[in-house]
Amino acid sequence: MSHVSPSFAPVFGNCIRLLRQVLYTRDGQPFLVAGSGTLGWDAVGANLIEKGDKALVLTSGYFGDSFAECLKVYGADVTQLTAPIGGSPTKEQITEALKKDKYKVLTLTHDPKMIAETVKEVSPDTLVVLDGVCSVASEEIRFDDWGIDIVVGATQKGLGVPPGLSVLCASQKALKVFENRKTPPSSYYISWSKWLPVMKNYEAGTPSYFATRKPTSLEAPVQLIYALETSLKTIMEGKVSLEDRFKMHREASQRFKKEMQSMGFKTVSLSPETSANGMTAVYFPDGFKASDILPKLLAKDIVVAAGLHKDIKDKYFRVGHMGVSVVDSERDDMDRVIKGVKEAFAEAGYKSS
Ligand SMILES: *Cc1c(COP(=O)(O)O)cnc(C)c1O
Repeated sequence: MSHVSPSFAPVFGNCIRLLRQVLYTRDGQPFLVAGSGTLGWDAVGANLIEKGDKALVLTSGYFGDSFAECLKVYGADVTQLTAPIGGSPTKEQITEALKKDKYKVLTLTHDPKMIAETVKEVSPDTLVVLDGVCSVASEEIRFDDWGIDIVVGATQKGLGVPPGLSVLCASQKALKVFENRKTPPSSYYISWSKWLPVMKNYEAGTPSYFATRKPTSLEAPVQLIYALETSLKTIMEGKVSLEDRFKMHREASQRFKKEMQSMGFKTVSLSPETSANGMTAVYFPDGFKASDILPKLLAKDIVVAAGLHKDIKDKYFRVGHMGVSVVDSERDDMDRVIKGVKEAFAEAGYKSS
């Protein structure tokens, strides 16, 4: 399918409309641009940050540090509020930080409802930026009701599509802040002045090619837009309602965490109430490491990931349970991964007490 084909534009438009539904927003503005989830951080930095703007970055895991690093590239004056490993910043800590200084943006990865409400109470002008790369479509995100200004996402996690598309949604308030910049956006490719008309044209059903008109053309990722439309249609129009989808993720997450605890393993997350529902990070028991277990799982066609967090990188592994692996009742991914992990540890000589 050509990216200039008239039959492609409505598919793109559908993605924009369906994405709004997944995020419970009426007038949030989606941006679908070729790139990875990380490109969304650059979109925030380039479009919303001007040199010296203050940003409060809440860090409750690996990605907070990287988001902070990205915003600094665009000249932000970054303050990080870092929770202990496995925890997340508390309402009291966030309130105190917001009272101490005036921030243009606050970024978070987790617990958006509580945090957005706190921002609304204490510092209503601050833009609430949610790194939802892992959580879009696996966790409830009520963009309008909770007062979120940006959701940064990607296709390859909760949305269940191959990687390659940055999926972002901006509130009208965030777009106003962008329009009122005193300096031009500090990126060419990801500038919203380039992409906003493209999104509007596609939504209206007319193809638009900011990035493809030039001789050195970068094409709209046609296949990924088709794949995203398929996934969004399954999410919004399939057998399982959006509410039930989130409930299934919560149940699968609790089940998996309980199974790991029954083997004597500890989860990295300290509190079940604020644990992610799309994945679980589990500490290896003493004497075991990724290379003892992951290849054994791979031999069973089960892929789990090693650790990332710089302080505990070698001490834990990550298991994703999101999208079709949880929602599609014809698949048995959850049973298989639980059984597989148990067998792999048994083969490696682990005896659960
Ligand atoms: C995976 C992830 C990212 C990075 O996304 P890429 O598509 O790999 O760039 C960023 N933030 C969070 C919360 C993630 O889970």
